[in-house]
Order: sequence, then C-alpha cells, then structure tokens
Amino acid sequence: VEVLGVKEHAQGERRVALTPETARKYIALGAAVWIEPGAGTRAGFTDQAYLDVGAQLADDTRLGQADIVLCVQPPETARLRQLKSGAGLVGMLHPQADDERAGVIQSRGLQAFPLERLPRTTRAQSMDVLSSQAGMAGYKATLIAAQLAPRFFPMLTTAAGTIRPSRVLVVGAGVAGLQAIATARRLGAQVEGFDVRPETREQIESLGGKFLDLGVSAAGEGGYARPLTDDERAEQQRRLGEHLRLVDVVICTAAVPGRPAPKIVTSAMVQGMRPGSVVVDLAAETGGNCEATRPGETVDVGGVTVDGPLNLASQGAVHASEMYARNLYNFVALFLKDGAVAFDWDDELLAKTRWIAN
Ligand code: NAD
Repeated sequence: VEVLGVKEHAQGERRVALTPETARKYIALGAAVWIEPGAGTRAGFTDQAYLDVGAQLADDTRLGQADIVLCVQPPETARLRQLKSGAGLVGMLHPQADDERAGVIQSRGLQAFPLERLPRTTRAQSMDVLSSQAGMAGYKATLIAAQLAPRFFPMLTTAAGTIRPSRVLVVGAGVAGLQAIATARRLGAQVEGFDVRPETREQIESLGGKFLDLGVSAAGEGGYARPLTDDERAEQQRRLGEHLRLVDVVICTAAVPGRPAPKIVTSAMVQGMRPGSVVVDLAAETGGNCEATRPGETVDVGGVTVDGPLNLASQGAVHASEMYARNLYNFVALFLKDGAVAFDWDDELLAKTRWIAN
C-alpha cells in the first residue's frame, strides 16, 4: 500500500497532512510512504526529515499510484483527476462546497473521507480535526486581539500608576472559544464568555472566565447549537448590545454546523463600543458573527478595529500540522492494517465519514 502526503497549493496554507512522525507510523503499519517535495517546509518539516524516517520523495507520477492520499485542503480538481481510481482520499474535503470537485471525486470513484463529517463521539476524539484545528484558531485569535488592542491585557501596578486589566468577551464557547478564553486568561485579562449551550457555563468557569447570561438557551442535536428563533435572537441582541459598551475586546467564535455563521454582533453594537476596542471575528470564514466583519480584512468602524482573519490554524502550522497529521493517522489506522486496505463499513466512523454522492 502506498500512502502519499501532498503539498498544499491553496493560498496561505502552511499546514501539511503528513509529518515525519506519522510517516514513521504508516511505515510501521506496512505502508510505503511518499511525500511531495517541499510539502512540509512551511510547517517546519524538511524533506530530509521525511527521508530520515524512511519516506520517499514523490514526483508527479506518484499521484496516480498512491492508494491513500492525505491532504489538508482538497487538491485542485486537475490533480484530483490524476488520482488512481478507487484511491482513498482523506482530509478536510468539503465536497459539497464545489460541484466540480464533487463530480471528479465521483467520476474517479475515489473513496473520499471528508474528515469534517466525522461523528464527534468519544472514540473519534483522537481523529477530530475540527477540534484540533479550532484549538489553534482560538489561541491565535486571542493573540491577534492582544496585538491589535491599544491596551495591556493584564492588570499592572507600575510607577506610572495602575493599569486596569482588559475586559475580553468571547462569543461562543465551543472548542475555539474555550481556547480563546484560556489564552486570554493566561494573558491576565478579565474574561467573560457566553454560548447558547447551557453546559458551557461550567466549562467557561473552569477556565477562570465568567459566564455572561444573555437569557437564551438553544442546545441542538449532537452536542451542537441550533439556530435561534427571531425572538431569542432579539433578546440576545438587546442584552448583548448593552453589555458591549463595557468590553474592550470581543472574540467571536460562534457557529452552527452546515450554516453561515450566526450574526450576533450588529454594526450598531460595534458603533456603541468605546473607540480603541477590538473585535476579532474567527467566524469570518463562514461570513462572520459580526455584521461589520470583512473576511480577510481589518477595518476601522468609528475607532473600533474589526478583524476577520481567515485560516488561523495555518498560522500555527507546526503544531496544527502535528495534531492534524495524528488525527489523520488515527483515522487511517481504522482501515490500513498489515500493509493492506480493508474498509469495515460496519464501523460507524468509516460509514458516517465516507462521502457518497447523492
Ligand atoms: P462549533 O464550531 O459548531 O460552534 C462553536 C460554538 O458556537 C458552539 O459552542 C455553539 O454552541 C456556539 N453557538 C452557536 N450559535 C450561537 C449563538 N447564537 N450564540 C452563542 N453561541 C453560539 O462547535 P465546536 O466547537 O466544533 O463543538 C461544539 C461542541 O461539540 C463542543 O462543546 C464540544 O464539547 C463538542 N465536541 C465533542 C467532541 C467529542 O466528544 N468527540 C469533539 C468535539 C466537540
């Protein structure tokens, strides 16, 4: 069995799906491992580091020979077309986001596993790319906010007087939000968070944050949130608008699976914030939680800085890749055994993650 780690071609993508550490593990499972030259460079892994563990450098023909292809973002359709019929393709593939991509996956008979579809069960935790990458994104979002803010985060007692700590509000306390809270706490800020899932109260508090109760509870299926009704949304916005006047930094991380990001912070709320405040909207990729967000840009709204960073996990490419590559390895090990590929479709992790065109 041949396993190939591809070089990412998407703009700004620094991560890699195969690291020297996981290359060694695939080899231990009986696979021959190939890496495209330079694939790991931007994540801190030289070609030599792969060679040292027994992997080989792939030329272009290798795409057409690999049995299992590992990627972060989906390869361009021209490259997908070169894959061997029936090859396994594992990564954050989002096939439904692009008809042409979906068509090629289907026409080439690829066995595609879009890992963003992995059920979020206890057994799947070690394969959960959404969680590992959201952790890095949440961490970076707080650092960006600290960088953009014209204030200290911690309280300081200095000869020039006392500096009060920054007040940080984190919107949405999923994986990214909780890491944003933990990071802001480590920087010494006064941190609050809120979410529509009631169980997040305890999680926020366990990190030293305060739960901001906006009077709305909307737990949905599978541990996720459901969209709010119009009344719930109005109530959340009324209370939030008042509160934002007191806050120095807002970090937005709220999401509802399969939908555009919920709009939570209106432009009017941003205008009501004090000049010098900062909004970092990690949900920018799916449209943003803040109405004033311009994905990929930093804008000034009446003295409030609104930043909409894209692909934050890629900014922490070394650790993001290490975690991502381990997630992939743990998943592939479900069907790569003793040097052979065997899919057990009774295994719900394989059956539910597998993409079948409809
Ligand atoms: P996500 O990225 O889909 O959403 C981020 C957060 O936004 C969620 O906490 C959600 O409740 C919140 N949100 C949605 N609408 C909101 C609104 N209008 N206002 C405020 N907040 C809103 O979620 P995620 O971080 O990927 O994970 C969600 C949950 O799933 C986590 O709490 C986690 O515990 C659970 N999970 C379980 C496992 C597992 O057991 N294997 C793995 C990962 C995540």
